[in-house]
Amino acid sequence: MAAPWEDVLQNTAAVQEAARVAVDAALLAGVLMRTEDQPNASDVVNYAPFTLLPSAVPRALFEQAYTVQQDFNLLVDAISQNKEFLEHTLASTIKVDDFTARLFRIYVQVLEEGLAQSVFLGINRSDYMFDCGVDGTPALKQIEINTIAASFGGLTSRTAAVHGQVLKVLGKSEEASHLLPNNPARGLALGIAEAWKLYGSPSAVVMFLVEEVQRNIFDQRCVENELWNRNIRVIRKRFRDVFEKGSLDAARRLYMEGKEVAVVYYREGYVPRNYDQQNWEARLLLERSRAVKCPDIATQLAGTKKVQQELSQPGTLERLLPGCPEAVARIRATFAGLYSLDMGEEGDKIAAMAIADPDRFVLKPQREGGGNNLYSEELRQVLEKIKDSPERTSYILMDKIKPQPSMNYLLRAHSPLQVSECISELGIFGVYIRHGKELVMNKAAGHLLRTKATEHADGGVAAGVAVLDTPFLV
Ligand code: ADP
Ligand code: MG
Repeated sequence: MAAPWEDVLQNTAAVQEAARVAVDAALLAGVLMRTEDQPNASDVVNYAPFTLLPSAVPRALFEQAYTVQQDFNLLVDAISQNKEFLEHTLASTIKVDDFTARLFRIYVQVLEEGLAQSVFLGINRSDYMFDCGVDGTPALKQIEINTIAASFGGLTSRTAAVHGQVLKVLGKSEEASHLLPNNPARGLALGIAEAWKLYGSPSAVVMFLVEEVQRNIFDQRCVENELWNRNIRVIRKRFRDVFEKGSLDAARRLYMEGKEVAVVYYREGYVPRNYDQQNWEARLLLERSRAVKCPDIATQLAGTKKVQQELSQPGTLERLLPGCPEAVARIRATFAGLYSLDMGEEGDKIAAMAIADPDRFVLKPQREGGGNNLYSEELRQVLEKIKDSPERTSYILMDKIKPQPSMNYLLRAHSPLQVSECISELGIFGVYIRHGKELVMNKAAGHLLRTKATEHADGGVAAGVAVLDTPFLV
């Protein structure tokens, strides 16, 4: 599975020259992030971290991931419409996890009132690693699916060009010509634009709901600019703005400062720290509205780790996607072992199994954004402490996926250039639209490859651990 640049990895002079070219190419291409010191100003910016070289990805697994994306879109959409399933699946979790419980309460409240929304837009990203089996054959295994605020579709639209230039500098023009074009930002924007059109009010705007701290604004601007290019107005607002200035009319149309909002695209709202009491009220207002929420709160709940675990139970996929045995088989083939820690004998056994062999597993709470999972000794200690308490049901247990590492250089501002042992995670963006009961769009919209040094068990690009990459198919 090695990429054909093992030969240059040890050539220090060539690597240093290529790194200088790479950084300038990234800045020119717009692979940008605001700085930690000034996260809300664009006066001084830097390049987003990325690999010097593209990483090898098995072609068959890459294609498998694209093929199964439409199935995952269907599945998420089906879950979001299945109250009984969400209720049943999250019942134990919401007893102990306050964040999921609050989301769930809004979900129920909005359903009881009756949905004003009739156009549903889903933008998700299904993430995978290439698990190395005993015989060395890699298999595509899903890490998770992100149904809210899935990021880096913008910046990753620009990394292939940077890596292409690096390869040329290193005398690998032929290989450079094989890098795939990739533009998730456009695919995401096409989905938003279509949802905006179906909403049916030409003067209405698209609202990006953004965090207080906006380091990753350029990633969002890529999508925003695609919308402006289609003459769709975009406004950027925070929950606080919605609380202060948002309102609904009698038909529950959403207004912000006098402008009707057709689509609310969340790049915020996925972790507890995004919410105070006012923000929860703002969230409720948005959910009650007629505007297309991307995602609506049901779809956010469909992306919880607990739902992921429940999907792996025998018969669940079949019930959610009746009459689609092929889609079910394609989805199931990507599942790693997932285990419930619900109270009872079965959960007791699972907890004991993990405590006895903690290196085989990952312990995951209902959180997003990286850096929350527990591994090895820490996993053992935490499980040991909570194994007899209902607190354990706020976690799920998952088999640890073990990819074959490869060597690369991770380019990060103010960091020394050094070779690292790395593993990669492939994400596929999915976009779909449902109008009432009818699915009118269902697409895979591009990919994202992120790579991190094996010394870090966890953490994404935003968390400063993983970096952007480009797949080189082998
Ligand atoms: P989050 O919602 O915080 O992104 P993830 O489930 O994606 O949670 O886990 C975060 C990171 O932890 C992943 O990007 C991956 O590096 C690592 N990870 C998660 N699950 C596994 C697993 N089963 N095996 C190996 N690594 C994992
Ligand atoms: Mg993740």
